[in-house]
Amino acid sequence: MRAIALISGGLDSRLAAKFVKEEGVDIIPLNFRIPFCHRERNNYNLADEIRKDLGTELKKINLAEDFLEIVKNPKHGYGSNINPCIDCKILMLRKAGELMQGLNAKFIITGEVLGQRPMSQHRDALKIIEKESGLEGLVLRPLSAKLLEETIPERENWINRNKLLSFSGRTRRPQIELAKNLDIQNYPNAGGGCLLTDPEFTKRLKELIAHRELSIDNVALLKIGRHFRISDSAKLIVGRDEQENKELEDLARADDYLFFPGEDLAGPTTLGRGEYSDELIELSCRLTSSYCDLNGQAKARIFYRKIPENRIEVSEVLPLDDAVLVNNRI
Ligand code: SF4
Repeated sequence: MRAIALISGGLDSRLAAKFVKEEGVDIIPLNFRIPFCHRERNNYNLADEIRKDLGTELKKINLAEDFLEIVKNPKHGYGSNINPCIDCKILMLRKAGELMQGLNAKFIITGEVLGQRPMSQHRDALKIIEKESGLEGLVLRPLSAKLLEETIPERENWINRNKLLSFSGRTRRPQIELAKNLDIQNYPNAGGGCLLTDPEFTKRLKELIAHRELSIDNVALLKIGRHFRISDSAKLIVGRDEQENKELEDLARADDYLFFPGEDLAGPTTLGRGEYSDELIELSCRLTSSYCDLNGQAKARIFYRKIPENRIEVSEVLPLDDAVLVNNRI
């Protein structure tokens, strides 16, 4: 018997997959990549952990484009921030369902726990998600299965319902205990894998949507730096440390501007994106200089280039007043 296990990167989905594997089911672990993962979590090597847990390679599928559509206009609305959790789960299950036949899998496993999340893990939401993904009866949630209606895998005895679990609510204690029993190690702390539940991030995201600038490239930029709206159609992003300066250079695409101080000054790299005029170049140089250590000088020399041109230009500018920075900061 074979099943697809949805792997989110958190502990619960790993527990569910390994728990069902221990009951003799062949598991295909499947991870959907969305553009809103925390950067730290991107560094956590999920594929390595899954190989250790299940002895199987993690299958990864990019859902970025489909996901942006549901963020813009979710049928079931948002949670407390801009998290379209019900639509997100429907999308993921529907995609997993499309793969079942080709992978010879009979059902889908998720790590959902009844009552753990207010929007998408109460009884009615779980039913809607199952129905609208076209997988009624085929989604096994082993961590809470005993509290839920019997599924086809249980009815058909592909798995023994009596051995399944009855976790519910927000407490993490049973999961941590189970992780010990299943020898699952190196998992991230509870919650917070998705930036759509982060109030600071969603403030920036709403601003991007309001300016009709929602795209995968622009979302990648939202994860780093200080963001400034410098015109209706242009933004400037200021790197906060060496690593972010480097990342901004890596994320720059054609027609973006990169600004940076000369070697005599310590300061950030900044990235300008949007419709740029000479005035905005000047403003961006001034804004960049505001984050430089001027060593008592009144003015700073800020260099800039337009991607992909190699020609570097320079402007000698005065920093902006703090009030201007505050007003333009997103
Ligand atoms: S928190 Fe993010 S990843 Fe998780 S269900 Fe909600 S929208 Fe999807």
